[in-house]
Order: sequence, then structure tokens, then C-alpha cells
Amino acid sequence: MTATDPHSGLAVEVRDLRKSYGEVEAVRGVSLEVTRGEVFCLLGPNGAGKTTIVEILEGYRTRTGGEAQVLGLDPAENRRELRERVGIVLQQCGVQSDLTVAELVEMYGRYHARSRPVDEVIELVELVEKRDVRAKKLSGGQRRRLDLALALVGDPDLIFLDEPTTGFDPAARRQAWSTIQSLCDLGKTVFLTTHYMDEAQHLASRVAVMNAGQIIATGRPDELGGRDLRPAEIRFGLPAGFSLADLPEVPAQERSAEDGRVLVLTTEPVPAAQRITTWALERGVELERFSVSQPTLEDIYLELTGSGDHGHEAPEAAR
Ligand code: ATP
Repeated sequence: MTATDPHSGLAVEVRDLRKSYGEVEAVRGVSLEVTRGEVFCLLGPNGAGKTTIVEILEGYRTRTGGEAQVLGLDPAENRRELRERVGIVLQQCGVQSDLTVAELVEMYGRYHARSRPVDEVIELVELVEKRDVRAKKLSGGQRRRLDLALALVGDPDLIFLDEPTTGFDPAARRQAWSTIQSLCDLGKTVFLTTHYMDEAQHLASRVAVMNAGQIIATGRPDELGGRDLRPAEIRFGLPAGFSLADLPEVPAQERSAEDGRVLVLTTEPVPAAQRITTWALERGVELERFSVSQPTLEDIYLELTGSGDHGHEAPEAAR
């Protein structure tokens, strides 16, 4: 196994990782690599094994088999050393809620040999206006951002974010995304788990989809499961007085009409859309709710996992 030392290109390297809880085989031979400076995202339905993998990499759980290296170190043997270089945001974090945001960030900073300036960290997580507010007075989303600040103050090279925006409103999610992107600008590596496909689409340079303890697909969000090669979907309302047969010939894999809505599946969406719209303009007819779309990451994910994941609903489609 290549050492994931500070000079190599890998922040995390896992080979044939296995974890059993008694009879339950939660992780069944997982291999993955995370390159330094990337946002890597682990996706999968409830119970797929994501948290188990993350916690093995954080040194909180022991593995049953396989190899794991985090920043060149085996997390099972180097937990103390890794604590200095790895930032962790757990799904549930308990802090002393009588202290203010600034006091907590400063206190956590003192636990580390190397720390970032308190106000810089508070600015990074966009909590400047809450700097002197006690933790117990923060909203749920602000608390999660404080958790992130506490993970960042030790200036880690690698940050684990386990479902960082669960329970956030849409504005808070966008804010969290911009913070996570700022981490990449600082050269940090981010290992993310999420149930939100739009989050993975927006943030991840690479995603891995897990199901029942195994990785079933990996790739860039745009390419996962051959997404970039799938036909586009052109949809519109069939104008009154016309039938499917009246529409112009277009390069298409499939054309169908149901309940007055036309669906054209095509790998050449530009000429197909152009012919259809020209046809409509020449006749002065309207194509109601005309749209061209590629399959979303969510479409591909549901196809891959056969799913499945009813635990959390994605708040908006990841187009
Ligand atoms: P979620 O999306 O719900 O957080 P996950 O993908 O993180 O799920 P894990 O929490 O890693 O999944 O769980 C994987 C499997 O291992 C599940 O079947 C779970 O019930 C089981 N499991 C997890 N932790 C334990 C434990 N401490 N003891 C026994 N079984 C466990």
C-alpha cells in the first residue's frame, strides 16, 4: 500500500476494509482513495455503512479487516497524532453551551499545537454576528456551523463532515456550502457524507455510492453511472389539434406522448430542440412548459441503489 504521507497525493487510502458487528457485516471489502485537496463524498442509503467507515478513519472504531491510512498513518494506531491533523464534525456534538462562540473557539484552539486565529475561524463559518452569543442561544444551523468552527480551529489538513447540513433551511445550507468551498480554497481535503444529492453535486469532486456495505459506483458527480452519456429528456405539452405524428423528425432514441405531454429521449438535444422549436414558431403554436434536462445525480443514485433511502428527502432536485 502506498504511504499517504504528507508528500504523497493521497489523504486517505483504504483497501478491502471490513467491519462486522457480531453477525452484521456492516462494511464488506471497501477500497477507496481520496486525493489531497478534493471534496470526496460518500453517498448511500441508511445503514449502508458510511458512518462506520468514517469512524474507522477517525480512529473511533476498530476495523475487522483490511487496511486504512489517513494522512500516511494507520488510524487504529495513531489516533493521538491524527487528532492534531484531522478535523471532525460528528452528527451530534456536545459543547459547553454557557460559553460564547468566541470563547469556545478560543478554548478548542488551545487544545492544539497549531491553531488558526479565532476571528478568522468565526468569519470562515459566517458566525461574526454571533461571536459573543452563548452557544445555547444559537439556532440548530448556527450550532452546526459552530461545530465546524471547532473542527477548523486546529487548522487540520483533512476534515470529516458527517451529514453537515441535515436539518438546515435552504439558506443555511447554501451558507454551509460556501464555507466548505472556502476550506478547499485553503487547500484542505474534505471527506463528506450526505443524503442530499444536490449537496454532493454542488460540492464533491468525486463521489462513491455505497449500498449494503459495499461501494457500487464511483466517479465525478457528472459522470457517475454513465450519467454524461445518458440521453437528455425534452418535454413539452402537445399543442391542441396536433398529434405526435405531426411533430418533425428529430434525432431521438424514443418519442412518446402521455396525458398531452411529449417526451423525447435524445443524445443530440441541441438539434432536436432546435427542430421542435422551429416547427412550433413557424406554426405559431405554443409548447407548454418546454424543458430540456439531463438525468440528475438523484436519478442515477436511485437507479444504482434501487432505492431505498427513505430516511431523508432531498430538499430540491440536483439538476
Ligand atoms: P445512516 O445514513 O443511517 O447514518 P450509515 O450508512 O452511516 O447509515 P452505519 O451507521 O455505518 O450506516 O451502519 C451500517 C450497519 O451497521 C447498519 O446495519 C447498522 O445497524 C449497523 N451498526 C452500526 N453501528 C453498530 C453498532 N455499534 N452495533 C451493531 N450494529 C451496528
